[in-house]
Order: sequence, then structure tokens, then C-alpha cells
Amino acid sequence: MDKFRNMRNDMLAERVIKGLASRNMEGFYVHTKEEAKELALSLMPEGSSVGWGGSMTAKDIGLIDAVIEGNYKEINRDTAKTPEEKNKLSREMFFADYFITGCNAMTEDGVMVNIDGNGNRVAAIVFGPSHVIVICGMNKIVRDEAAAFSRARNEAAPVNAQRFGLETPCSKTGVCADCKSPDTICCQFLTTRYSKHKGRIKVILVNEDLGF
Ligand code: SF4
Repeated sequence: MDKFRNMRNDMLAERVIKGLASRNMEGFYVHTKEEAKELALSLMPEGSSVGWGGSMTAKDIGLIDAVIEGNYKEINRDTAKTPEEKNKLSREMFFADYFITGCNAMTEDGVMVNIDGNGNRVAAIVFGPSHVIVICGMNKIVRDEAAAFSRARNEAAPVNAQRFGLETPCSKTGVCADCKSPDTICCQFLTTRYSKHKGRIKVILVNEDLGF
């Protein structure tokens, strides 16, 4: 990142963190992926049970590998051999000490927006795991909720649909057509505007472009 982009992001992150605090969520800001990974690990005591949603960001910063290789009881849906087993692990996730996720967009004043197809990721953000750790690149910060929904719907969702090779209009055109395709990943829209439990949700802002 260049000097002026850094200056802008440093100030913006401060604003987001204040917004998060006003919403009973805790925000942190780091400059690099490595710092983000180390910070996330330091927030999760060894021996904790840890699960995660399908977050490219958490994978990109090396956090998922570090959890798998570390001294944690991981709940890893990727190890499931059958849909039934995957479903069982998704349910076990609700009892995890920590749930790691990315987000699709976040407003400058700390409102988080996520879209989900299956619903397990947004469900675990809402309720279940004792702690939620969100890794969010500064590229996901937008002005307001309308912009957050627009980003989630018009940017994150089409890229994810393409990534998974889904039969949706956006996977062919790159543009949302508000589809009702059986393959749609836009079944659930979650707006997290306040956490009932202070500090349950911790957001690590990273001054890098991460995820979609
Ligand atoms: S609603 Fe359908 S077309 Fe629009 S982003 Fe979601 S999956 Fe793609």
C-alpha cells in the first residue's frame, strides 16, 4: 500500500473501530496478513474448539492452516466424507469456543453484511459459538448499508458463484440478476448492527485487499 492509501486506511479503520465499539463489538487494525493471523491466534487460547465458515480471507492469511496445525480442537467441515457428516459438523460448530469468518462488506460505522446460501455461516455469526472472529480486508469497507448490500450482492456473490462453478446467471455474466436459481448463494442476508454480548464479536481489519 502506498503512503497516502495507508494514511486514509489508518484513519478509516479508526472510524470503523469506534463504530464497532458503539455496537458492542471489538475492533482491531493491523497492516499485514501475517499480523492478522498472529493476532487472531493470540485471541484464541490453545485447547479451544475452533470452527470456521467458508472464508477465503481466513484461508488467505494462513489462519485456517495455523489452526489445523496448532493446538486446537478444530471443527473442519472439509474433512466430511458425506453430506450427512458435513451437516453434523455444521451443527457442532454452534458449540465451538471460536468461530472464524470473513465478511462480505462492512460500513464505515461498523455494520457488517453477509450473504449465505446454506445459512450455516450467518447462523453461527448470530448465535452459538462463544466467540466470533471476523477477518476483514479494508477493501470491504464501504460508506453505508446500501453500499454494503450492493457490494455483497454485486461483487462478492457473483465472484463466489463463479468460484464454485454454480449454475447461476451471475456465474456467466458477473452481474447479479436477482435469481431464484436452485444454485443461488443469496438465500440469507445478514445485517449485524449490534452484538447483544459485549466483545463476543471481534473484528480484525487488515490493510490489504482480502477475499471478494
Ligand atoms: S441472486 Fe443469483 S444472480 Fe444474484 S448474485 Fe446471487 S446467485 Fe448470483
